[in-house]
Amino acid sequence: MAKILRLILGDQLNRNHSWFQDKNEDVIYLMAEMRQETDYVIHHIQKVLAFFISMRNFAEYLDREGHQVKYFEIDEKSNPQNLEKLVQSCIDEFEIEVFEYQLPDEYRLDQQLKEICSQLKIKSKANDTEHFLTEREYLADFFKRKKTYLMESFYREMRRKFDILMDGKEPVDGKWNFDQENRSALKDKQLLRKPKTHPKSVKKLLQTIKDAQIETIGNVDPEKFTWPTSREECLEILDYFCERLLVHFGDYQDALTTWDPFLFHSRLSFAMNSKMLSPLEVVQTVEKYWEGHRDEISISQVEGFIRQIIGWREYMRGVYWAKMPDYAEMNFFGHERTLPKWFWTGKTKMKCLSESIGQSLDLAYAHHIQRLMVTGNFALLAGIHPDELDQWYLGIYIDAIEWVEITNTRGMSQFADGGIVGTKPYVSSANYIKKQGNYCDHCAYSHKEKVGEKACPFNSFYWHFYDRNRDKLEKNPRIGMAYRTWDKMKNKQEILDQAEKYLNNIDSL
Ligand SMILES: Cc1cc2nc3c(=O)[nH]c(=O)nc-3n(C[C@H](O)[C@H](O)[C@H](O)COP(=O)(O)OP(=O)(O)OC[C@H]3O[C@@H](n4cnc5c(N)ncnc54)[C@H](O)[C@@H]3O)c2cc1C
Ligand code: SF4
Repeated sequence: MAKILRLILGDQLNRNHSWFQDKNEDVIYLMAEMRQETDYVIHHIQKVLAFFISMRNFAEYLDREGHQVKYFEIDEKSNPQNLEKLVQSCIDEFEIEVFEYQLPDEYRLDQQLKEICSQLKIKSKANDTEHFLTEREYLADFFKRKKTYLMESFYREMRRKFDILMDGKEPVDGKWNFDQENRSALKDKQLLRKPKTHPKSVKKLLQTIKDAQIETIGNVDPEKFTWPTSREECLEILDYFCERLLVHFGDYQDALTTWDPFLFHSRLSFAMNSKMLSPLEVVQTVEKYWEGHRDEISISQVEGFIRQIIGWREYMRGVYWAKMPDYAEMNFFGHERTLPKWFWTGKTKMKCLSESIGQSLDLAYAHHIQRLMVTGNFALLAGIHPDELDQWYLGIYIDAIEWVEITNTRGMSQFADGGIVGTKPYVSSANYIKKQGNYCDHCAYSHKEKVGEKACPFNSFYWHFYDRNRDKLEKNPRIGMAYRTWDKMKNKQEILDQAEKYLNNIDSL
């Protein structure tokens, strides 16, 4: 048999991939911690640690299973630190006759690997990652000849296709979507549960990263690194979610509170994005658990969770492959402002932002509504350039990989795609943030006021945003009402002046 080199990227840690079903002396698995991956954006230190530790665990697992693995640690002298040199040097060293890789999820790596293969003098082959429910082009084909990509119709198709929460051809309990029931603020602190974590010391690796002078952001407790870094740990997090958190997941999915950073969210995004868990096994496990506990857990909790994964997650991937590379350039509103300095420190008087950014720096995590309706909302209202935001979101979160980061940031949160992902921009004044929790109760600004010293910046920014983008938004049938309200307001100029004043002093808000 020909000697084969198989590349495994850092987010391809899928133990159940068909590659690993047989052991073969002629196959060498290649894994590498590389500067090209640590340096394309400034990552959170916990993200770098999580990837390196999970990769090392994965390589050890393959080795234990009797596979041949060539692994490069970041500080190894012989580490070529980039993909071209890495692949070529291993082909030469091991006299490889065929090079294989799994289709990367990022456009930049896809291009790079195609280029590498075109230069090779040996045969090469790309394999599916066997992770997602659909293939890259599925969504674009599904919506062929349609003007817009409607997430809800895609989601229903996934439910039918994979027989998830179905009763024959109909949705279980007669409804596809329980979103209206999933919007409560959390009033009772007693309901909260501690997250399931796997604390471990990362002192040694941290020192290696420092010595290598890899630039990072954020904080970490060297004695207590808490993210899951093996399939076993990820499965424990999944079980814990089913047993302890699912019961309230949907109810408090959109809640905002200073009491707890995680609420009832699963913390499974890194486990799935690194492919240690597959989305199908996650939703099937959750569905099965619910079937055994239907008297305790309502359908709205389960449907809300499953929609995020087989709906939003899968849909975002489809949009990414349908629209890249142009997507990365989109800036529908022509926003140009740079990110306020406090996005890197959390030091702002606005409580919603200091909490959401502060916990992102400490934990490499913020839940969806913090990302969408606090940081994202602020940035959109303030007119921050989407490139600046992409860099920030791509760096700071444990789960940030471009295919899911850019579609959420540029698309869902910034409407920079002009309405591919969402039908209207997700913007709100302080009203929404106040309604969803207790941030405003602890804030230096007043959520009720639009103008004056104490006025919450979200209030004047909200109207400034609508006013300056009238030509782009007024005809949107879902927005017309906002303009009718704005037109009736008496102190329009005062509100616009307040917004300008704040925008001119954005770093000191
Ligand atoms: C501006 C912005 C940027 C984001 N960037 C990322 C990112 O880089 N990587 C990432 O995985 N998610 C991203 N999201 C989506 C979402 O916020 C995270 O998936 C979620 O907060 C992860 O925490 P969790 O695992 O506890 O999620 P849970 O609330 O427990 O949800 C369960 C799972 O559903 C999936 N999911 C939920 N919402 C989405 C969504 N909108 N798109 C795709 N999958 C979703 C995730 O896999 C998540 O693990 C972003 C959202 C916004 C608004
Ligand atoms: S008052 Fe405004 S800035 Fe303060 S927490 Fe509420 S929404 Fe945020």
